[in-house]
Amino acid sequence: MIIAIDGPAGAGKSTVAKSLARRLNYLYIDTGAMYRAVAWKVLTDEIELEDTTRIGLLAAESHIELQGSVDEMRVFIDDREITNEIRTPQISQAASIVSAIPAVRRSLVAQQQEMGRMGNVVMEGRDIGTVVFPRAEVKIFLDASTEARAHRRFAEEAQKGMAASMQETRAAIESRDDRDSSRADSPLLQAEDAIYIDTSNFTIEEVIANILAIVSQKA
Ligand code: C5P
Repeated sequence: MIIAIDGPAGAGKSTVAKSLARRLNYLYIDTGAMYRAVAWKVLTDEIELEDTTRIGLLAAESHIELQGSVDEMRVFIDDREITNEIRTPQISQAASIVSAIPAVRRSLVAQQQEMGRMGNVVMEGRDIGTVVFPRAEVKIFLDASTEARAHRRFAEEAQKGMAASMQETRAAIESRDDRDSSRADSPLLQAEDAIYIDTSNFTIEEVIANILAIVSQKA
């Protein structure tokens, strides 16, 4: 079975997807980490974000790997570990810019399809139910109010000592969602057959129980 979890930043996708993978003993694939890896390489190599041709080539030539268990997932690009480096607000914005480049999406989507080929996977992202696995057995679109999402992201960033201010976190989330939703290639979109869950007023446990019930119904 393939479980696709899509939705905007801060809706709780990672927490929910990881917990599902753990409980079902499925493979967990964080596709956002792959776009972040490309963004990291672009910034590290000091490539202009406007240079879409070069970035497209870079995505095709780079070897991105997600290794380890659900709780200790490590991210590599060309054998260089970048697990922690890719979790900064700067990389979040750059990932959202490079992910709008069709050549980048083509390379990463092909890799994601290959990674999920064997099934029993929980894959989270923006286009899993629409583009990567349009025939996924379970498709969930997780959403929450901008307020709730900004609060969650701010708390995460504060814990890592990276938070600027609540207003800045909120503005960053909004600009990323706008860009992700308005790009021409595979925008952030709820698949027609996805189940919409607004997580603003539920605990993570409630959301997970809800999805587990959907999964066992499908099984
Ligand atoms: O999920 P995460 O916030 O780590 O993703 C970082 C960025 O990567 C998103 O803002 C989005 O622009 C891009 N992304 C994407 N398609 C995916 C996953 C992530 O375009 N499947």
